[in-house]
Amino acid sequence: SLPTIFVITPTYARLVQKAELTRMSQTFLHVPRLHWILVEDSPHKTPLVTDLLMKSSLTYTHLHMPTAKDRKLQEGDPSWLKPRGVEQRNEGLRWLREDRRAQPGGDNQQGVVYFADDDNTYSLQLFEEMRSTQRVSVWPVGLVGGMKYERPVVEGGKVVRFHTGWRPSRPFPIDMAGFAVSLKLVLANPEACFDGEAPMGLLESSFLQGLVTMDELEPKADNCTKVLVWHTRTEKPKMKREEALQAQGLGSDPAVEV
Ligand code: UDP
Ligand code: MN
Repeated sequence: SLPTIFVITPTYARLVQKAELTRMSQTFLHVPRLHWILVEDSPHKTPLVTDLLMKSSLTYTHLHMPTAKDRKLQEGDPSWLKPRGVEQRNEGLRWLREDRRAQPGGDNQQGVVYFADDDNTYSLQLFEEMRSTQRVSVWPVGLVGGMKYERPVVEGGKVVRFHTGWRPSRPFPIDMAGFAVSLKLVLANPEACFDGEAPMGLLESSFLQGLVTMDELEPKADNCTKVLVWHTRTEKPKMKREEALQAQGLGSDPAVEV
């Protein structure tokens, strides 16, 4: 049977959250055998996310894990200062390992794990590419790292180096959106997780180091020549007029969920 794709997504409350999760969930509706592990960066599950998942028709697991206060990006901090979504991805991994251990039967190790941020743009083709992952598969990511795209460079069917604008000497200069790992490998390495203390740009490497070598990477998307995922970022909506109206008692009805 088709291996299940376990998608781990960190998410946090902000004005665009419902829009992001709506777009994402409706992409996933087109992907067979997908199990969405959505991890809220919050001390509790929120009604907005609970309701959205319930109405989504997806197979999902709803988790929450707040980011430690000293790890959280503060208003005004540059976005590169601290890695985001770390504790949430690790919580997703923890749940997955525990859940698989509890599943009886021989195919509880069959599957693929992918880390999908809630603001990126995903082609349906991407999921069919990653489904055949044996250990770790890789592909290009568009609009990332100050580049049109970053990608592994493939020669003779093997990844030999990386096309990236920044520190190509990193062990794995790959964006979070640019790789998937087989469930088997995740379960065989129960300690593998994301290191929130990893220096800038080394978060992905902190997870992949020890799981795989560059030589073993499986290039997808026509030998990494096709862009099937984009590191899009959503503009923060301006609330100037909302605030002006609020000051006059004429703000939008807070009972309307946005
Ligand atoms: N995220 C989170 N808590 C935060 C900030 C971000 O859980 O305080 C999530 C966010 O929803 C996304 C992922 O972490 O799924 C990566 O964050 P973001 O897209 O802001 O990072 P960037 O696009 O800058 O890499
Ligand atoms: Mn993002």
